[in-house]
Amino acid sequence: MMNETKGRKIYVIGAGFCGLSSAALLAKEGFDVTVLEKNDRPGGRAMVWKKDGFTFDMGPSWYMMLEAFDNLFEQFGKKPEDYYETIRLNPHYRVFFGKNDSLDIMDDMQKNYELFDTFEKDGGEKLKKFIESSQQMYDIAVGEFLYRDYWSVRDLLDKTLIIDGLKLHIFKKLNKYTKKFFDSDKARKIVQYHVAFVGASPPTSPAVYSMLAHVDMNLGIYYPMGGFGTIVDGIMKLAKEQGVNIEFNTEVLNIEVEDEKATKIITNKGEYEADIILNTADYHHGEMDLLEKKYRSYPEKYWKKRIIAPSAFLIYLGLNKKLNNFLHHNFYFNSDWDKYFDQLFDHPEWPEDPSIYITVPSKSDPSLVPSGKELMTILVLVSPNLEDNETHREPYFDDIIQKVEELTGEQFKDTIEVKRIVAHEHFNKTFNAYKGTALGLAHTLFQTALFRPHHKSDKINNLYYAGHYTHPGVGVPVTIISGQLAYEKILDDVKNNIV
Ligand SMILES: Cc1cc2nc3c(=O)[nH]c(=O)nc-3n(C[C@H](O)[C@H](O)[C@H](O)COP(=O)(O)OP(=O)(O)OC[C@H]3O[C@@H](n4cnc5c(N)ncnc54)[C@H](O)[C@@H]3O)c2cc1C
Repeated sequence: MMNETKGRKIYVIGAGFCGLSSAALLAKEGFDVTVLEKNDRPGGRAMVWKKDGFTFDMGPSWYMMLEAFDNLFEQFGKKPEDYYETIRLNPHYRVFFGKNDSLDIMDDMQKNYELFDTFEKDGGEKLKKFIESSQQMYDIAVGEFLYRDYWSVRDLLDKTLIIDGLKLHIFKKLNKYTKKFFDSDKARKIVQYHVAFVGASPPTSPAVYSMLAHVDMNLGIYYPMGGFGTIVDGIMKLAKEQGVNIEFNTEVLNIEVEDEKATKIITNKGEYEADIILNTADYHHGEMDLLEKKYRSYPEKYWKKRIIAPSAFLIYLGLNKKLNNFLHHNFYFNSDWDKYFDQLFDHPEWPEDPSIYITVPSKSDPSLVPSGKELMTILVLVSPNLEDNETHREPYFDDIIQKVEELTGEQFKDTIEVKRIVAHEHFNKTFNAYKGTALGLAHTLFQTALFRPHHKSDKINNLYYAGHYTHPGVGVPVTIISGQLAYEKILDDVKNNIV
């Protein structure tokens, strides 16, 4: 293979998880790989921000589905532990349903069964059954669906896929599927909330996403010591060891095409001649802003019909005190989910009583803060179709902080030393996101597998795509898999003299 790849110039757009990991894989095959990144640092959505001794992960904070990371490093004869250290969290997280109404989900399933017994008759037994089915779906999804690419309906007509596909309950909605198992509102919320973090909602996402309950409760929640930035650094090191060149502060402005072949990348720093391009920046931006209209595989009307995943109202706080009532991961689940998901997806509105995710990673990792202090990030998922501006941000911040203080019975507003708030505008400006989305493309049945934008352009032979808009979808482990699928397609095309 080296003969066909050696010296061929591949440009990867974007130094997020997908861009860095696919660049490493491509360089291993002998390609001459350069990553072009508009920002001054790697990580993309998983960017790190440091201020006054506090180290903030601006994006992901849940390290899950470890086999995707193991699988990446294994291809280089390495292990993640060669690059960063992880710990398993116990408890997994605390859930607040209201004031004086909280519970902890533990790493010990027996304790979780006992907890579910307090929600309803046979609650523990019901959880056991739910998780067994969730595990079965996960095993099928990982074994048959995630590491496989889809180009046409024919790819879905494979006999094994059809038989296994039925076991995935893709035609049932998650909320209805969950109702069959549980009567209690608390139980239902605990096994369903995960879908919101892959940009979906229980009433619209297929029941297969209940597999995330298995990922959470059985496979466990891990944390990379030093923060998510250490994983980014680890994968960047891996890429550099393979000879990948990374250019920061280099924004791609245009891709020039001749005879259905992308020939040149125009950036703010100059022009680059390319043999192959892999775009891992947001798909909409890659098509609508970087290509002439006639070369776009998906026109504007395609995007208008897509369900775009939520944006996020994010608060980063450095606190001059230690906190007692928080775990590393904490949630507030608001009572009216129908209304909240309606405000997120169907009737965009700033929610007055949203669900809230609060992470205090300094509980596990003192290296993130100066001694005696605590670091808190608060995330509220909000619709991408909202106006975000400074005048709105401050009062919304006040409301959220007041709510968190009330719920937890712990006052911390007066101890804030470092504060930053971001929302839609940040995602637009920093990542060229469509409608300020934090998470890309939502996961609905018709935005899954074949129905996500493809890993290769329909119009330009040497232009490929990967990242959270493509199959398998949203979340760090699966964007790494998406990069791997694009890498495999490129190799295949090179081997078959298609490109
Ligand atoms: C707040 C938040 C919390 C999250 N929490 C979790 C979590 O706990 N666990 C989890 O697994 N996932 C989580 N996710 C999702 C996860 O972070 C993403 O799915 C994943 O990081 C996306 O990676 P990517 O490489 O596809 O895209 P990105 O990370 O967006 O990378 C794309 C890169 O392309 C660059 N780019 C864009 N346009 C250009 C251009 N014209 N020229 C050059 N470069 C360009 C961008 O700057 C960016 O660096 C979270 C996301 C957010 C926002």
